[in-house]
Amino acid sequence: MEKRDIFTGVNSIKFNQRFKSEEDCYFYIASIKWENGYQCRKCGDDKSIPGKKPFSKRCARCKYDESPTAHTMFDKVKFSLLLAFHIAFKISTKKKGMSSLELSKEFELRQMTCWQFKWKIQQAMQSSQQYAISGEVHVDEFFIGGPEEQKRGRSKGDKRLVVLALEKLPDGVGRAYAHLIENASAKEFKPFFKKYISKEAKIITDKWRGYSPLKKDYKNLEQRTSENGKAFKDVHVHIMNLKGWLRGIHHHSSKERLQGYLDEYHFRYNRRNNMGTIFDILLRRMVTHEPKRILSSSSKDA
Ligand SMILES: [Zn+2]
Repeated sequence: MEKRDIFTGVNSIKFNQRFKSEEDCYFYIASIKWENGYQCRKCGDDKSIPGKKPFSKRCARCKYDESPTAHTMFDKVKFSLLLAFHIAFKISTKKKGMSSLELSKEFELRQMTCWQFKWKIQQAMQSSQQYAISGEVHVDEFFIGGPEEQKRGRSKGDKRLVVLALEKLPDGVGRAYAHLIENASAKEFKPFFKKYISKEAKIITDKWRGYSPLKKDYKNLEQRTSENGKAFKDVHVHIMNLKGWLRGIHHHSSKERLQGYLDEYHFRYNRRNNMGTIFDILLRRMVTHEPKRILSSSSKDA
């Protein structure tokens, strides 16, 4: 397949001009799927002939027929691909995304249907974990939900503990990542550090003892007195904004749903100065990742 014509920008007029039909969407998915050439899923052969449906490919050897949407997050979606593209575009390019309730009103779909598709999108928005922070990074934890936080008290009821890493740049703030954790212990911090922070990074935390054991692996970890948050101003602004967004859209979130929201928030946040390719990045993930599983409806929320 020739070089992909990537859709860039956040302009909805241009989006509507580019994606007008199911065919336009199938073509875009196929162009991502077979960007690096075709290989049969069944027998591994690399020669194909046109398949049954538009843009599908049939293996020249074993005749296995694969549609562009098979094994992607667009497989078995309960509405048109064009609608799915519109939803992905809105969620990735609107500053605050869209809740399933807003989606259901705008696109005249059942809220449950929107919610299920949004859950797939949130899975595609998980960090690729390919670009660990290697410069300066501030790490802190905070509670979401429940009465306003006594810091580090044990997690009770609906309260959930979250650890946050915020990259500091000479002229402001860079990327951020957040994960739910069970408690503020080194054991819980470790996998988070491993995923998002390079061993060479200059890490700054407050004086909490849970961070101390990590100095063994992270030589440039420094613990500072928080001075009631003054030493971690950017972190606190970030947490405030994140909580504000969460309050606006979700209620009674289950643990895995809440992680979905954290992923969604930071997917957009980490591309806020580089929105040009955000839709294409999301689309590419939705085509190259299969949804891991469907959540039970009991953990439904907005
Ligand atoms: Zn084959």
